[in-house]
Amino acid sequence: MHLHDADFAGPRMAPDRFLVPSPSSVPPSFHLQPPPDSTMSNTPPVHDADLSHIPPRDKAELLSQALPYIRKYHGKTIVIKYGGNAMTDPALQQDFAEDVVLLKLVGLNPVVVHGGGPQIEDALNKLGKKGHFIQGMRVTDAETMSVVEWVLAGEVQQDIVGLINAAGGKAVGLTGRDGGMIRAKQLKILDKDDPAKEHDIGQVGDIVSIDPSVVKALQDDQFIPVISPIGFGESNESYNINADVVAAKLATVLQAEKLLMLTNIRGVLDKQGELLVELTPRRIDELVADGTISGGMIPKIAGAIDAAKSGVNAVHIIDGRVPHAMLLEILSEKAFGTMIRSH
Ligand code: ADP
Ligand code: MG
Repeated sequence: MHLHDADFAGPRMAPDRFLVPSPSSVPPSFHLQPPPDSTMSNTPPVHDADLSHIPPRDKAELLSQALPYIRKYHGKTIVIKYGGNAMTDPALQQDFAEDVVLLKLVGLNPVVVHGGGPQIEDALNKLGKKGHFIQGMRVTDAETMSVVEWVLAGEVQQDIVGLINAAGGKAVGLTGRDGGMIRAKQLKILDKDDPAKEHDIGQVGDIVSIDPSVVKALQDDQFIPVISPIGFGESNESYNINADVVAAKLATVLQAEKLLMLTNIRGVLDKQGELLVELTPRRIDELVADGTISGGMIPKIAGAIDAAKSGVNAVHIIDGRVPHAMLLEILSEKAFGTMIRSH
């Protein structure tokens, strides 16, 4: 299984928390219904940004529900992998930025790691650069790598920084080069039929180590780090690393309380397209072996298991198409998506 695909582009503990809140206390529009796709198709979610129809008492109830979570997570680090549709839809981008600012203002320490496979794809297409793929992974030559760097660090990251700042936060964009954060080396790809044979796919990286000191310094100073998944090698060369893998490793080295991976699907689905609310490493191995988990979900789930095993308390893959999914996941009793357990 290939854990990295740089160009590819949960529910909670107690079972009762899988249930939506009692119908009497929360208006129907606030129930986090997953988008109505029972398959892996990507039906856009229904937007429900207008909360004016919610009676004040219900709003107050939702706010007071947040108090125990604010207390629990105060001062704690939450690593958020930002990707999928939540990153391309303008309304969802706005929600995301506001949620990050709110979390910071109530005392949590959000750290954002962003993806950008589709944006890189677009840029390369516009430049007329024909992709060469080996086992589904783009061969990243020097020219491709410079496009990757300007798209991720120049465009995608700066857009996110701008949105967070416009929402009242103080975001700072970083790549893995800043503060010597992410050391990387070339990812080795073994031939799927002949494991003795290795493929060279260029500047696609594997993490060697992460030094989180720059992130810690920014956090302590009220800033919100926004990190592009680019590492540097021994000869100062750049590497494009899968953002899920970076988010997971960063959550581990920061000893984050939570790792949230926002994606473009409800969570991990089984063969029938049903949401799996909870997964253990053993079950994940089975699902990868029989092909139920494939493509971009593979590095995501591999990173999720690593983080869970390394002591990150809560690891969730959630639907970034649901407005304010992240905020509700952290600060309310609602649970959705897939939670990954270490055992
Ligand atoms: P992201 O931007 O979140 O990294 P990816 O496209 O890399 O998005 O990964 C999410 C995709 O993984 C889903 O859209 C889906 O097509 C694919 N996928 C493969 N297997 C599964 C599975 N078992 N459950 C859910 N998604 C899966
Ligand atoms: Mg991906």
